[in-house]
Amino acid sequence: MRYTFDMPTLLLKPGREKSLLRRHPWIFSGAVEQITGNPQPGETVEVRDAQGNWLARAAYSPASQIRARVWTFDPQEAVDADFFRRRISAALKQRAVFGLSPLPVGEGPGARAVSDAMRLIHAESDGLPGLVVDRYGEILVLQSLTAGCEFWRETLADLLLEQTGAAALYERSDADVRELEGLPPRAGLLRGSNIESRITISEYGLKFIVNIQTGHKTGFYLDQRANRRRVGELAQGRDALNCFCYTGGFSIHAAAGGAKSVLSVDTSGEALSLGRENALLNGIKADSVSTGSTTILDWLEADVFTALRKFRDQNRSWDLIILDPPKFAPTAAQAEKAARGYKDINRLAFKLLRPGGILVTFSCSGGIDAALFQKIVASAALDAGVEAQIVEYLAQGPDHPVSVHFPEGAYLKGLVCVRG
Ligand code: SAH
Repeated sequence: MRYTFDMPTLLLKPGREKSLLRRHPWIFSGAVEQITGNPQPGETVEVRDAQGNWLARAAYSPASQIRARVWTFDPQEAVDADFFRRRISAALKQRAVFGLSPLPVGEGPGARAVSDAMRLIHAESDGLPGLVVDRYGEILVLQSLTAGCEFWRETLADLLLEQTGAAALYERSDADVRELEGLPPRAGLLRGSNIESRITISEYGLKFIVNIQTGHKTGFYLDQRANRRRVGELAQGRDALNCFCYTGGFSIHAAAGGAKSVLSVDTSGEALSLGRENALLNGIKADSVSTGSTTILDWLEADVFTALRKFRDQNRSWDLIILDPPKFAPTAAQAEKAARGYKDINRLAFKLLRPGGILVTFSCSGGIDAALFQKIVASAALDAGVEAQIVEYLAQGPDHPVSVHFPEGAYLKGLVCVRG
């Protein structure tokens, strides 16, 4: 049966409304029976089941396998500037509860209590699919990852400044996932003027330089904030090895927490040189010169897979090893190959760990869930021939919430293991 509707409408195949009734925000191309009204990319469409019953209002994305993403499940709620104002405001209030986002920027209770850098909008989990906004001091950095966000980009930019009082908004819509939406990469200043690309932020009293123009993602791995502090607490008196160190987040926390030595490994020379600067900024010696209680800090530009094998051949060992690799499996399709990569580095790390040593190991792959990650780590310990216990489970911080209706949002998994 063909229907006609006043508004651009996406009609689902029979039975394909189930995930929407559970409030999951994605509509895959295979679920769509018919599209009426010739909607443009990013335009709002009404979503109806095969019987024509109204289900949701969503952003249309013709180039993507995810054909539409839901803005609202409320038939009374229009998708307009006020809608986005309400969603942004709700997200900012949630952050303030956790001492993260003073309103407006720089004022109010809890300001700078934890950090002046945080994720303000976490896409689907904040009811704004495809929109990521991070705050670094007075500057906001935006990633628009879907056709829907692209459509509302100017409105979103205005509302973000209005709601936060931030001085400027920089765009880093240069992530690979935009290709899947048929969108070209884009980066540059969206609002404000004359901003510095290097911003110094503070995190639990430690300082870090973030380059919002050239850094990974929007500049810093904000999702690991609490885990970096935890590593700092565990580091006292230990020799630490930080693999995939980026700009030294875990390294600086470990050094400040009283580690005896920290060796940091990454393939990116630019990240390592920021790491050295970060060490100096926090009054930690940047070279391998031990003076009194100073931590011995070393930075190694190398591939971790190769470096760990070399350390094994040299019989080196540590009491604390951190593994925070990049996403090996963005989706479930790459899970098998990714699993081999995770197992390899975890097996080598267990071998390099002294008895009683601590392994803090992460996966940020959406394609590997927590249960599978734990299995991989278990078989890595088995192959390494060591006993190990899990003593803590770690995850992304509260500024990276997971909507209960969107389990895909829980991407960062961490295990703290103690070697027997
Ligand atoms: N722990 C960091 C974030 C790590 S992100 C923090 O808290 O800030 C992952 C890092 O792995 C990136 O810096 C990237 O340059 C690095 N990387 C990717 N592949 C690598 C490899 N094979 N060997 C070493 N480093 C690698």
